[in-house]
Amino acid sequence: MRLSLTDKCNLRCTYCMPAEGLEWLSKEAVMSAAEITRIVRIGVDHLGVRELRLTGGEPLVRADLLDIVSALREAHPDLPISMTTNGVGLDKKAVALKEAGLTRINVSLDSLHEETFTKLTRRPFLDKVLAGIDAAWAAGLGPVKINAVLMRGINDAESPDLLAWAVERGYELRFIEQMPLDADHGWTRRNMITAAEIRELLSRDFVLSPDPRERDGAPAERFEVRRRDNAGAETTGPVVGTVGIIASVTEPFCADCRRTRITAEGKIMSCLFSREEFDLLGLLREGADDEELAQRWQDAMWIKPKAHGMDHTGLGAPDFVQPDRSMSAIGG
Ligand code: SAM
Ligand code: SF4
Repeated sequence: MRLSLTDKCNLRCTYCMPAEGLEWLSKEAVMSAAEITRIVRIGVDHLGVRELRLTGGEPLVRADLLDIVSALREAHPDLPISMTTNGVGLDKKAVALKEAGLTRINVSLDSLHEETFTKLTRRPFLDKVLAGIDAAWAAGLGPVKINAVLMRGINDAESPDLLAWAVERGYELRFIEQMPLDADHGWTRRNMITAAEIRELLSRDFVLSPDPRERDGAPAERFEVRRRDNAGAETTGPVVGTVGIIASVTEPFCADCRRTRITAEGKIMSCLFSREEFDLLGLLREGADDEELAQRWQDAMWIKPKAHGMDHTGLGAPDFVQPDRSMSAIGG
């Protein structure tokens, strides 16, 4: 289950948000800590949710984040609870998050170069993100996963260096194909970097071989990473790490997807690309009991589309329409 804590964010990544931000939800429209706790409990107790990921917008900007994590941990002592964050301010909160009961963390980082980072996120916060990643690792929020989106002509050439950096530190890097979920509607198929290109780019410095572990519904296809020798030849040297590639556009995994998403204002989305949403929070606020909420949630998931419809037949195929919501407003 992916649960968005807020639609707000302190970065403006070009592939997600417009430069001027979006019209934020009002405080009343967003789920309270108590509502979040109840919704998660229904998911776990009635619907078999086995793993929770907190996301946004940027979850760290939510003032009551620690209270939310503590309450969830108290209610579900064994539930894996992870969080996806841009890492800004994580250095100050990592220890407290661990103590509150967060299991592990994903941090988004697209470039190690200040100028490129600032161009992509429209904010000069690379140092803060790097400090946040270090702090999360030190606090025991590992295994730390790093999410990167590649943009043509901006950070694609840097991809082998990002992998070298992650491997040296023991982080698992995952490249996510850019999806048409940017508020600016600037995505084009021609411009996106495909999974095949990512594998090719990485092969400059590394040899990738399929990770023998079972994929088990995970969005990322994982590869074992070996370094090329100095002459650039294939190597049989040791595995130095793993890398994941999330090919949502060119190699979709819809048939194996088991995710359910709740937006910050409590709407159920059965898919990132859903154009139908069900207002679970509205029903909860009307006084529905747990059984009814669980039933309506289940009903909302049954209409999960068979596939998102933008695979090889191409975006612009008559059955694919870009959702109105940007990634930040869904909860990626
Ligand atoms: N703000 C947090 C962050 O950036 O990690 C959490 C929310 S963000 C929407 C979750 C993930 O979605 C990030 O890793 C981000 O890179 C990714 N993302 C955002 N827009 C995307 C897009 N258009 N295509 C692919 N991934 C995207
Ligand atoms: Fe904010 Fe995350 Fe979207 Fe970047 S990807 S603008 S950090 S919500």
